[in-house]
Amino acid sequence: MSSTFEKIRYTRQADFDIKDKELIDFQFDMPKKVYGNCNLSIFVDDYCNADCKFCVAQLRYENKSKIYKKEKIEDDDEYFRRLEEVLAKIAPLNVSVSLTGGEPTISPRFVRIVKLLNKYNIRKKTITTNGSVLLKEIAGKRIIDYLIDAKFDHLNISKAHYDDSINQKLMPYPCGEKGCTNEDLSVIIPYALYKGLRPRLSCLLLKEGIHDVPGMVDYIEFYRKFGIDNVIFRELMDYDEKTMINLEKMRYCQDNKVRLNSVWKEVDKDKRFEPEKNILGYYYYVEIYNYKGVAVCSESADLRVQKKEKDANSDIVYEMIFHPNGNLNGSWVDNEDILLKYNP
Ligand code: SF4
Repeated sequence: MSSTFEKIRYTRQADFDIKDKELIDFQFDMPKKVYGNCNLSIFVDDYCNADCKFCVAQLRYENKSKIYKKEKIEDDDEYFRRLEEVLAKIAPLNVSVSLTGGEPTISPRFVRIVKLLNKYNIRKKTITTNGSVLLKEIAGKRIIDYLIDAKFDHLNISKAHYDDSINQKLMPYPCGEKGCTNEDLSVIIPYALYKGLRPRLSCLLLKEGIHDVPGMVDYIEFYRKFGIDNVIFRELMDYDEKTMINLEKMRYCQDNKVRLNSVWKEVDKDKRFEPEKNILGYYYYVEIYNYKGVAVCSESADLRVQKKEKDANSDIVYEMIFHPNGNLNGSWVDNEDILLKYNP
């Protein structure tokens, strides 16, 4: 049976046309057109307590021959003054906001950022985390409760495998922590759901991890017992090998890449997966299925396409990133495509 999504699955970015989308004229340091569904990512800090060999946060930098160590505004009060200035400036755009990093929850600025966001009427708030400290307390309150009290909508937790011992190999913690264990998730998932913070588990497909439909089914079934209703499987991003400087990472990614196109072919044959919809983004493509009531997303992304698309439409802002150095950029690299430059 040919898939509902089959045509677009193979043509993908050739079919994406930003000009079909809602574009809003907006004055940054220069005039731009902003994609109507634009998201603001607050890149809280580059530090992470884990050291995944496949780390996407590092890939985005090293893909461009840059070292993954960001400059930052050192003074906390000045950082928050600048963040508020940027939030106030872009408020008319009614963006959704994501907290990301590194690991955002271990930043000393985390609690203050979360509280600050709660002051603004933000359409949708999401955090992406390795989940390792969600149940830890700061000043007598658990990290997860700060998110709930600030009315966050989505909680994306990265978990590469449902078997804790395999997950610890794929997502090692150099200081010996265990990361987000299944015992933690058995508390986090039902509690978050009960409090209206929708949890989603994010699993990177890896040859030495989850790599095929039976593995995906085992992963979904394992966490379905905890109440999860939303899982995403990601393909390792494609990147520019000519400008990639981290050879160890590059080799790991080459050896471990699982192609979603092959996985999707198997999904097509499996009646338990009902196709729901597909989304074509400017450098990513997502297929969404329903598996026994669980929304199963699968996403592939290509950093080379991202560059090509942006180069071809340099007047358009696809997404915004607030960097620790105080710049608001249209790029994940903090001195590239600066929209609002921080002038100390
Ligand atoms: S948990 Fe996320 S940010 Fe941290 S090393 Fe792993 S992939 Fe990178």
